[in-house]
Amino acid sequence: MDLVVSTSNGLYCVPGDFYIDPWKPVARAVITHGHADHARGGSGHYLTATSGAAILRKRLGDHLPLQTVEYGQILQDHDVQLSLHPAGHVLGSAQVRLEHRGQVWVVSGDYKTEDDGTCAPFIPVRCHTFITESTFALPIYQWPTQAQLKSHILAWWRSNAEQGRTSVAFCYSLGKAQRILAMLDPSIGPILTHGAVERMNAAYRETGVNLPPTQYAGQVTEPSDLRRSLVLAPPSAQGTAWVRRFGDYADAFASGWMQVRGTRRRRGVDRGFVMSDHADWSGLQQAVKATGAQRVIVTHGQVHVMVRWLRECGLEANAFPTEYGEEDSEGQEAVPANAADLSPDKIDPTLPLV
Ligand SMILES: [Zn+2]
Ligand SMILES: [Zn+2]
Repeated sequence: MDLVVSTSNGLYCVPGDFYIDPWKPVARAVITHGHADHARGGSGHYLTATSGAAILRKRLGDHLPLQTVEYGQILQDHDVQLSLHPAGHVLGSAQVRLEHRGQVWVVSGDYKTEDDGTCAPFIPVRCHTFITESTFALPIYQWPTQAQLKSHILAWWRSNAEQGRTSVAFCYSLGKAQRILAMLDPSIGPILTHGAVERMNAAYRETGVNLPPTQYAGQVTEPSDLRRSLVLAPPSAQGTAWVRRFGDYADAFASGWMQVRGTRRRRGVDRGFVMSDHADWSGLQQAVKATGAQRVIVTHGQVHVMVRWLRECGLEANAFPTEYGEEDSEGQEAVPANAADLSPDKIDPTLPLV
C-alpha cells in the first residue's frame, strides 16, 4: 500500500487521513516549513515542528489552529506513526517520517544538506520510500561552502563601506535573510532591514536563534551611518522608491540561480552570491543514498533529470505532480497583507530562469 499519494488537494497520507503541505484547504495539514508555497492558509488543523511555530503564526495568523511537535517525537495517528526530522532548509523545516505496518516513508519537503547555523541541520532518515524535491538537480549546481559565502559577502560589504556606498543585499525574507545576517560582522557598519525581513527576524529571535542587532532602514538618518550600512531587503523592493533612498548604492542578489551565467545581469544587480536553501546536485545525491530507500518519488524541480539519475542507480523512481514553487518564486515570498513596509512592486517575472 502506498502511504502517500498525490491528489488535487496535495500530498495525502492515505492510512493517516491527513495532507502534507496541501495547496488547497483541507481538514488536517502537516506543514514541512513556512515558505508560502508549502504553508497555505484555510485548513482546519495544522501540525508543524515546534521551532517552526513562530514563522507559521506570522505567516498564517496568530490564531492558527496549530499543534506542534518536537523533532523526533512520535505521534500515533490512526494506524500511522508520524514524526518530524530536521530538513536544514529554513528554521522549523521538517521531513515527515511515516510508518505503517512495517513500511516507512519519508516526505522531505524542501531540504539543504549543509549546516548553516540558523536552523537544525539536515539529518538523513532511513526509509523504504523517499519523496524528494529536485529544485537544483543538475550537475552545474555546486554551492560554495558557508565559509566561502561568508568571506565573499563580508569582503563586498567592507569594500563598499570603505568607498562610502551603502550595500543593498536582495534576498528572500524567510531563510536567506537570516543566514546572511548570522554571517555579518557588525563592526563594519549598521545592519538595516526592510519590514518583511524584520518580521521574519522576529520569528527567529523568538525561537531562540541568535542574530546580530538590526534596525529598520527608515530609522537611520545619519548619512555617514547610511554609507557604511548593509541593507537586507526582499527582491520585491528592487527598483522601488524604498530602495532609491540609499542613493548611489551597491546591490547584490543572493540565490542558487546566481550560479547560472547571465542571471546576475538579467537581475540588474552589481553582484550575485550563490546561496540556496536547497541541496545542490551532490547534496541531493548524498541525501537519497543516505536514506537507503529503494523507491524514490520526485516532486518539484528538475524532475526528469533526477528520475533518470535515480533509475541509473537501480532505484525505482517516478514523479508526483505538485504545486510547489521553485526557489525564489513569488509564492515563496508571499507575506501577509498587513506586513509593514511592503513594496507593492511585483517580483521580477523572469525568475526562475532555468
Ligand atoms: Zn521552501
Ligand atoms: Zn519547495
